[in-house]
Amino acid sequence: YAKQAGGSEVRFFDPQMLAEVEQRFELEQAISRALVADEFMLFYQPQLTEAGQVIAVEALIRWRHPQWGMISPAYFIPLAEESSQIEAIGHWVLQQACLQLQRWQQQPRLADLCISVNISVRQFYQPDFVRLMSDLLARYQVDPAQLTLELTESLVLTDLDDAVHRMQQLKALGLRFAMDDFGTGYSSLSYLSRLPFDEVKIDQHFVRQSEDGEKTRDWAIVEAIIGIANTFGMALVAEGVETEAQRQLLLASGCYCFQGYLFAKPQAVADFESWFSQR
Ligand code: C2E
Ligand code: MG
Ligand code: MG
Ligand code: MG
Repeated sequence: YAKQAGGSEVRFFDPQMLAEVEQRFELEQAISRALVADEFMLFYQPQLTEAGQVIAVEALIRWRHPQWGMISPAYFIPLAEESSQIEAIGHWVLQQACLQLQRWQQQPRLADLCISVNISVRQFYQPDFVRLMSDLLARYQVDPAQLTLELTESLVLTDLDDAVHRMQQLKALGLRFAMDDFGTGYSSLSYLSRLPFDEVKIDQHFVRQSEDGEKTRDWAIVEAIIGIANTFGMALVAEGVETEAQRQLLLASGCYCFQGYLFAKPQAVADFESWFSQR
């Protein structure tokens, strides 16, 4: 037991803590079962050009739990990332995305779409990740240029050289890379010059600042990100675009590709396909 600093009260056990530990354990067990029970699914959210052409979709995982209902990845991915569970989930996501690309190859209107997949740092550094990737590409006959791996800045927290080396091995397979949520982490702008990213995603936090299309102080950060991406020849995508005013402001600042509720929410594949064909 612990004696609380500064107080006379002795705490033996906090029932709140027990609940938390049990809940956590229960959740971990449920994640393992979910893969077997096929409870995960991918939703797709489009990325559009200035002219409204859909060039890519981001795959976003959803968990349909039979009792708890739909569970957000913001809730279970961070927990899965604490163990090797994320490697199994991440592999399932990649396999699903490759299968989807293979299916769309048979449909002329959808055949050129790219899919972006979120990759956890732990998954990226798993020893056989490059081999797993090349196996999936071969098995599903996917054009690697149509698959983009989204990584976050936390990638460089361990070892920059290691990150560069691994990215180069995967780029040699023909895969693309996007820097996700850029500007929200701890890394500096200068890392971007050392890492072979093809695309930078402007985080929705920055986009949301300017709901009414007015430039806030933080907009200077968006303009700096756009400038850096242009200098390094990287494509740009703005995330979380919800209003036409935001789209206009981004256009005026030099960002011509958008993802957000203004166009479509993430949807199950059938819903995405009917949204797409009605355009
Ligand atoms: P992210 O990769 O930055 O994905 C963008 C998030 O913003 C998604 O949340 C998407 O639904 C949401 N979003 C898109 N447009 C708008 C908008 O206009 N307004 C608002 N308010 N939100 C918008 P979601 O699907 O809940 O995913 C949350 C995070 O979970 C993702 O952030 C990503 O970091 C992680 N995640 C999702 N799927 C996977 C996966 O398959 N693997 C891994 N490792 N992480 C994943
Ligand atoms: Mg993402
Ligand atoms: Mg993001
Ligand atoms: Mg995010």
